[in-house]
Amino acid sequence: MSDYLIRATACNEEVRAFAINSKDLVEEARASHMTSPVVTAAMGRLLTGAAMMGSMMKGDKDLLTLQVLGSGPVQGITVTADSHGRVKGFPNVPIVEVPPKYEGKLDVGAAIGVGVLRVIRDTGLKEPYVGTVELKTGEIAEDLTYYFAQSEQTPSAVGLGVLVDTDYSVRAAGGFIIQLMPNTSDETISKLEENLKKLPTVTSMFDEGKTPEEVLGLVLDGMDFEITEKSEVAFECDCSRERVQDSIASIAKDDIQEMIDEGKPVEVRCQFCNKKYDFTIDDLKEML
Ligand SMILES: [Zn+2]
Repeated sequence: MSDYLIRATACNEEVRAFAINSKDLVEEARASHMTSPVVTAAMGRLLTGAAMMGSMMKGDKDLLTLQVLGSGPVQGITVTADSHGRVKGFPNVPIVEVPPKYEGKLDVGAAIGVGVLRVIRDTGLKEPYVGTVELKTGEIAEDLTYYFAQSEQTPSAVGLGVLVDTDYSVRAAGGFIIQLMPNTSDETISKLEENLKKLPTVTSMFDEGKTPEEVLGLVLDGMDFEITEKSEVAFECDCSRERVQDSIASIAKDDIQEMIDEGKPVEVRCQFCNKKYDFTIDDLKEML
């Protein structure tokens, strides 16, 4: 198993925790969209957070969407996660360059800019749940922490990291989410704060080859905890030729006729995974 996430409870369920190794899924996203390093980091952090939040959902068909919209050159990133560890996503602008924050540190906040984080949870009800908060830093982890506090009244600590190698591939990626339940004692809170203060950066832990279990071991050091779930996660899109065909067929007949008259085959790319679908003139005629 390469990428996986674990879920744990600590201190008699005062605390719930998640940790994930997401290197392969972030690399898959990068290779699909051919993103520049800072966009790989931004999209990778959002995908990593979404995968953990997806695992918080209970329904088989529940779908979580995280959307960051900002004034920076990336403009926006949209990712989705289901409750089975499948994530997918795309940046509005895949290639962006911003000066590093300092040597070797990508400036994700500058690439995103000021804006909002939107969380949409579709659990099959008539109206999906939508929560929107202002971006705190555009660095994603802080923004998700703020979202949990503001919209879900759940004090949380979120750590996300993506390390891009010199050849632009993803060298390491992962993260954790720690959440306090309403009954958390002051003692547990101060112990957690102490642990988080001395915790190495998320990228350095995963780059050293630490597993999600070991990362949680450090975050929950000195506390009783039990891993209750371990599951695979992957970048996976559910697009298909049939779906794309349906979406073409749903546009106005005149527009399809226009494409036929132009005499050029049509190329449609899936927004989420960038997969290309080609339709010949004959295919288009058949749709009419
Ligand atoms: Zn797709």
